[in-house]
Amino acid sequence: DVRVRFCPSPTGNPHVGLVRTALFNWAFARHNGGTFVFRIEDTDAARDSEESYEQLLEALKWLGFTWDEGPEVGGPHEPYRQSQRMDIYADVAKRLHEGGYAYECFCTADELEQRREAARAAGKPSGYDGHCRDLSATEIDAYRLEGREPILRFRMPDRTITFTDLVRGELSFEPEHVPDYGIVRANGKPLYTLVNPVDDALMEITHVLRGEDLLSSTPRQVALYEALAAIGVGNGTTPRFGHLPYVMGEGNKKLSKRDPQSSLNLYRERGFIPEGLLNYLSLLGWSLAADRDYFSVEEMVAAFDIADVNANPARFDLKKCEAVNAAHIRDLAPDDFRDRLVPFLQGAGLLPARPTAAQLELLGKAAPLTQERMVVLSEVVGMLGFLFVSAEDFARDEADAAKVLTADAVPVLEASVAALEKAEWATDPIQAALREALVEGLGIKPKNAFTPLRVAVTGRRVSPPLFESMELLGRDTTLERLRSALD
Ligand code: GLU
Repeated sequence: DVRVRFCPSPTGNPHVGLVRTALFNWAFARHNGGTFVFRIEDTDAARDSEESYEQLLEALKWLGFTWDEGPEVGGPHEPYRQSQRMDIYADVAKRLHEGGYAYECFCTADELEQRREAARAAGKPSGYDGHCRDLSATEIDAYRLEGREPILRFRMPDRTITFTDLVRGELSFEPEHVPDYGIVRANGKPLYTLVNPVDDALMEITHVLRGEDLLSSTPRQVALYEALAAIGVGNGTTPRFGHLPYVMGEGNKKLSKRDPQSSLNLYRERGFIPEGLLNYLSLLGWSLAADRDYFSVEEMVAAFDIADVNANPARFDLKKCEAVNAAHIRDLAPDDFRDRLVPFLQGAGLLPARPTAAQLELLGKAAPLTQERMVVLSEVVGMLGFLFVSAEDFARDEADAAKVLTADAVPVLEASVAALEKAEWATDPIQAALREALVEGLGIKPKNAFTPLRVAVTGRRVSPPLFESMELLGRDTTLERLRSALD
């Protein structure tokens, strides 16, 4: 049975790298009929926050991920928050120590740093030098008498560690590059290096899919799994690993958590939709087929194979992300599209918390005028705000108004008012009346005739189709705005 885990640390805001990792794990689990475990790695009290934890949960739900085990849903390996599993880690650490798989290390930070410097100067590997590996009981007592408090350090085996990465193939690490490492702090707090593999073992994780930045910890963890198997923690098997490629951002630099381009919240606020984001993020290291950039998450799940993940760094291309999002917006059912616009209009103060039936009906009629050209949902504010804004708050784009609502526009606006006062109020007759008055009557080219009307009525040179917009706005408001443009 396939069992994968998504195990973020609740620090900061959710970012796209995290979402990509969640997506690949989730798709892998779903494709294989496996189990998707959601675990929270919150053992670093100084950095973890409850707010970040809530955001993670909320983000996963918004994206449409469901987890089979984890917070809120429970499961056979509860609890799924590491901060609630401290007794387990203390017990495992004790057993590793007793079994000789880990030892107490009394080196101070200063001593470590000095020896590291010396090793560097001598051109030698500068990792931990094994100083406390084989202390005698007397030496240990002496250190204790000095008042030193030891950390617990894992004893790496003196041999090459080899494993087959699901993305990168066989990888080997020589012992001099994988020194002994700390697993429990002097104050007794277990480190990520311990708790992550311990939980993977106890939760019987079969596949670890995670970012390439964690590749260097894998040989250490492989050795630790073997020790865990030896002391009877977990079912004795080491998971298989697949390291997902780096994501590069602007200027071909690694996209970092702190990079604004990586903040999930920003994408949400701009009105990316989960369908579009997940589709685009899946392309960061994977593809459905050479010629297909656009597909649903169901299609991804049906096709997903970790063997198809590419080891090369992937480039985050915002333009492409937007194009994929736009394609998913176009494919939304009309009612669904309308409903998703509501929060953006509310956020801009253009709709109340509880829109009236009339407001929703108007939005339902107006939304299709924008669906084809919308890239992100927040654009609705600019595109359709003119329909919902109050008379007092209506304001035209200043640059557009200065450019278009000039003296030349006066006769156009006047003739339009006259024509529209008596036109039948529907798109076609509005169009016919304005054509007759402006193109035939005043002899103006359609483009020149209609641009001032657009700015006068919608406030912008770029707007949904003009005559439909007027129909939706109603005769009174349309005439009011044409007249106010004459002031
Ligand atoms: N909590 C770790 C992190 O967020 C998880 C690493 C892993 O997937 O093993 O980096």
